[in-house]
Amino acid sequence: MTNPSLSDWGLYIHIPFCRSRCTYCDFNTVIGMGEEDHRRYVDALLLQWQRISAIPRGNLVSIFIGGGTPSLLAPDHIDRILEAVRRKLGISLEGVEITMEANPGTVNESRLHKYRLSGVNRLSLGVQAWQNHHLQRLKRAHSVLEAAQGVEAARLAGFDNINLDLIYGLPQQTLAEWEDSLTGVLGLNPDHLSLYQLQVEEGTPLAVQLQRGRASLPAGDMSADMADRGRERLIEAGFVPYEISNYCRPNKHSRHNRLYWTMNPYLALGAGAHGYWNARRWWIIRGVRRYIEDLQAGGNGIAGEERLERLEEMREYIWLGLREEGGFSRNRFRDKFSINPESAFGAVLGGLHRRGLVERQSEYIRLTGRGRDLANYVFREFVGSS
Ligand code: SF4
Repeated sequence: MTNPSLSDWGLYIHIPFCRSRCTYCDFNTVIGMGEEDHRRYVDALLLQWQRISAIPRGNLVSIFIGGGTPSLLAPDHIDRILEAVRRKLGISLEGVEITMEANPGTVNESRLHKYRLSGVNRLSLGVQAWQNHHLQRLKRAHSVLEAAQGVEAARLAGFDNINLDLIYGLPQQTLAEWEDSLTGVLGLNPDHLSLYQLQVEEGTPLAVQLQRGRASLPAGDMSADMADRGRERLIEAGFVPYEISNYCRPNKHSRHNRLYWTMNPYLALGAGAHGYWNARRWWIIRGVRRYIEDLQAGGNGIAGEERLERLEEMREYIWLGLREEGGFSRNRFRDKFSINPESAFGAVLGGLHRRGLVERQSEYIRLTGRGRDLANYVFREFVGSS
């Protein structure tokens, strides 16, 4: 898998609407909005896009329409957004990976076909579990059957690049149920799978349920077993593990995610989105109404920004790069920062190497199998190190 060129860049577009709120979710989402709100939001988004004055000079290689549930937006709105991108950049978007997140139950073949005609060429469906009782407990707004129907509809609509998301470590989830979830999604023959461990975020209904003893999580070693089992099953099924949580059919990796892990530039559109370019990180107003009002009043939607110190960028580059199966390229690190990683972090890298947690393979430094098991420990080593 070749690395993106240092100047390749991506565009993230946030669509915050959801049908209902899942118990574990702390993403920037709103529920209960209708078509008129959608139109006003997309109008604001297009204003924000028009007002972006600086565009990276390299190639746009990926557009990611994430959420929320972007598939709640009518295809016409997606079409308007992608058309505006084409027009401003003066390019065709042929060859650009254009991913849209969707939730089962919000799509059918005709709707998906229209997204496809607009240029969306990669679909990411949130399946999450293969048992209706888990989906209901998480307050997911769909069933297992709807997930399977969503994939079938996407294939009929012409999508040949489909990702499915699954979560493990759910409350009261057993290893046998996790095995069934893996079997279920593999039966749908996806091109890409993301297996995420459930994160309990403060202030979510799930966190409250756990505090009050109304739900319990599988023990830590059970979640580790689920991660291991997921990896084994997917590799057996011919998937390539290319990042700690991500697996793909050959050449079907997510270009967009790789831009994040290699710290390439990405621009941000939409409420709560984050951008990164030239050691600067910025974020867009989170509240949907405030975002719309700001754009209507002539603003650019930006809520704040920070400059990353060089040392901070280098640390981030390493821990993000170590998430990838192949690790990070020493040459690329040197091209970006004009220093060898060993010169910048010799003590830390040497210590991890002696403990068998990282290894060097030609120009790459990567986690060993043991390093993968202790990945969070390894990543923490790059916080505050030099
Ligand atoms: S569908 Fe996704 S974004 Fe929407 S509430 Fe559920 S987890 Fe959050």
